[in-house]
Amino acid sequence: AGARAPEPQAAPSRAPCKPAVFIPVHRTPEIQEARLKLPILAEEQVVMEAINDNPIVIICGETGSGKTTQVPQFLYEAGYASSGGIIGITEPRRVAAVSMSQRVAKEMNLSHRVVSYQIRYEGNVTDETRIKFMTDGVLLKEIQKDFLLSKYKVIIIDEAHERSMYTDILIGLLSRIVPLRHKKGLPLKLIIMSATLRVEDFTANTRLFSVQPPVIQVDARQFPVTVHFNKKTPLDDYSGECFRKVCKIHRMLPAGGILVFLTGQAEVHSLCRRLRKAFPYQKNSTAGNAVETTLPKIDLNNYSVVPPDEGDEDRDFDSDDDAAGSDLDLDLGDGDSGEDEKSDSSLPLYVLPLYSLLAPEKQAKVFRPPPPGTRLCVVATNVAETSLTIPGIKYVVDSGREKRRCYDRITGVSSFRVSWVCQASAEQRAGRAGRTEPGHCYRLYSSAVFMDFEKFSAPEITKRPVEDLILQMKALNIEKVINFPFPTPPPTEALAAAEELLIALGALKELKQQLAAKLSCPISPLGRVMATFPVAPRYAKMLALSRQHQCLPYTITIVSAMTVRELFEELDRPAGSEEEAAQLKGRRARFLQMQKVWAGQGPMQKLGDLMVMLGAVGACEYSGCTREFCEQNGLRHKAMLEIRRLRGQLTTAVNSVCRDAGLYVDPKMEPPTEAQVTYLRQIVLAGLGDHLARRVQAEELLDDKWRNAYKTALLEDPVFIHPSSVLFKELPEFVVYQEIVETTKLYMKGVSAVEPEWIPALLPPYCHFGKPLENPPPSYCPGTGRVRCHRPSVFYRVGWQLPAVEV
Ligand code: ADP
Ligand code: MG
Repeated sequence: AGARAPEPQAAPSRAPCKPAVFIPVHRTPEIQEARLKLPILAEEQVVMEAINDNPIVIICGETGSGKTTQVPQFLYEAGYASSGGIIGITEPRRVAAVSMSQRVAKEMNLSHRVVSYQIRYEGNVTDETRIKFMTDGVLLKEIQKDFLLSKYKVIIIDEAHERSMYTDILIGLLSRIVPLRHKKGLPLKLIIMSATLRVEDFTANTRLFSVQPPVIQVDARQFPVTVHFNKKTPLDDYSGECFRKVCKIHRMLPAGGILVFLTGQAEVHSLCRRLRKAFPYQKNSTAGNAVETTLPKIDLNNYSVVPPDEGDEDRDFDSDDDAAGSDLDLDLGDGDSGEDEKSDSSLPLYVLPLYSLLAPEKQAKVFRPPPPGTRLCVVATNVAETSLTIPGIKYVVDSGREKRRCYDRITGVSSFRVSWVCQASAEQRAGRAGRTEPGHCYRLYSSAVFMDFEKFSAPEITKRPVEDLILQMKALNIEKVINFPFPTPPPTEALAAAEELLIALGALKELKQQLAAKLSCPISPLGRVMATFPVAPRYAKMLALSRQHQCLPYTITIVSAMTVRELFEELDRPAGSEEEAAQLKGRRARFLQMQKVWAGQGPMQKLGDLMVMLGAVGACEYSGCTREFCEQNGLRHKAMLEIRRLRGQLTTAVNSVCRDAGLYVDPKMEPPTEAQVTYLRQIVLAGLGDHLARRVQAEELLDDKWRNAYKTALLEDPVFIHPSSVLFKELPEFVVYQEIVETTKLYMKGVSAVEPEWIPALLPPYCHFGKPLENPPPSYCPGTGRVRCHRPSVFYRVGWQLPAVEV
């Protein structure tokens, strides 16, 4: 078939570890039969020869061709895990690591003790583990403990096309580890797997691999997928548009599963509910398999492809522009209104949600055939794009959106935003419809909009602040990060900003005489401690300082709460019914009341929103973290459970750093004393130092837009305390904030008050008298037009004069 025989690499590689063994695996006949249908099975020999002959191999193949589930099995059978070695597979998504380890265990008839997984919070790895699925972040941490990864015989980097930051870094690191292992006579095989052929960043990068690794392409059978664009592009209610499209497909088109792409868990659930209501499915439904007879027959040959490059007609909204009137795409219509949600005579729809955090046993449902007499409809997020392949899908409904983690280059704050996908993603999504027979993809946007999508999304590493990554790399003693063989290097300004923040936090040693050789400062002892905590450097600094005055349990709680975010339920959302409105009102009143209690009084209250977080977690734990307590007090139960988990994990991490501390964080912690709260405020300031803000005083008011506004060290514009903050009315002169969000104005959230005299003592790196640069470097975030200063001096930036010193 389509595999190109790889050129064996001019070696130092000649297969000293070519295994001579064959480890038998006892699969059930059904499994064996299903496997034989996978395209990669036909290529087993080609794949294995390439791996035996080369230290590094790249495998490309369409989603569903069997890469993730089969390649580890090939290696196992060939004896790569026979003498105590482990085959490691990294995934950028947790859901894939868990679900793939379960699938492979089942296919091989082996227990989870042998085929295991490890993700950030959990895992089932044992001494017997031979095949280990893990997230890319987990392997990076392991490299810190054992740079040579001695226990692994093979590392497979899966889903490399996603270009997640850790995957990229792993490839860079492994490009060095593989030759090192070879020198030691303990060869390590590296296999990079990708769903697309776009691998030049790996192959054409001479800094990465001195010898170009062979690329094996696995051709998957892919049936044609007819793509239908919408004429109009709904701007907000794409979820409603999905609903209407699914209804039409279900009522009008022949049997075949439907896969809908939405952006997040809440959306997925709400569409599932709507669809279930419209086409109810009861477990004992007696409906027969009547799809073909009860629905009008449609001539599938009557479809026309709307190629994206002929998309101009899509801009044409003329109502009688039904030149393509026979086109079912148009018949299915764009956002036709008046679709009622009442049940009709159609078949039941077997509706299943699919997203990352769904419990594994619920995820597994999508792989089973739907009950007879129903049609499968999976409402999914991005996870169904390449990580998981759902059988039997014939129709794809693509909202064209995804939730992306966006980073503000200025504030360094991340948030999830719904944005358009890239063209490559849209194509992947469409491809899901053609796995078993010809299919159809309905894009809920016009072809003109599609043409405006980015071709590929940029690698994550080029889009986000990299201070956590740089700290991890420095902890690996990679000092000149600028020389690291990144598959795609992050922008130099991002590296510089990270280095600067880490120096300011004291995680790196600033070497004056080496100023010219910037970006090569070595890690400090504090930095080493910080690097062991699995949180962002600002938070790691807080943890590192908190052994004093028994502040650790509180800092752990605050950091966990800040990491989880969105602790509080959205109580201002519009209610569905009068009853719900009354309920919401009651909850909101109670929440506001509790917020005041949690914030404490007097000195306690100065810790501000962080004190509210602390109080909320404490009270919630005291109640046993029950759902009722959360509902009554406007807390998100899931968030509280997540915080509990993180607190446990951070406590373990902290204990391993300061073994003698013998710490045990009781979920039911006592409230902090007033003195402890004062220490906590200083600890928070030390960690969030670059997020310092000072209220503009009356005499400095330039114009009205600065009323009640704060000046920050990072931005030129006025920022305000968010109305949800307990310090909203207090307006302390100096505050630090967790993040800035931009809605109608720039708002600070997670605000805590600071005493001015602490600033020079705790933030010496920021208290210099250097003037701001005459010609500031180009705006760090071109989109916003805001200027970020280099190492801001609080004196200049927030307009604070040192109090006159009496001599
Ligand atoms: P790739 O990694 O190339 O995208 P996979 O190895 O993930 O392909 O999938 C190969 C096949 O295994 C697909 O047809 C998929 O539907 C099937 N599969 C994967 N996981 C499961 C599961 N848990 N249950 C049933 N089938 C599964
Ligand atoms: Mg895969």
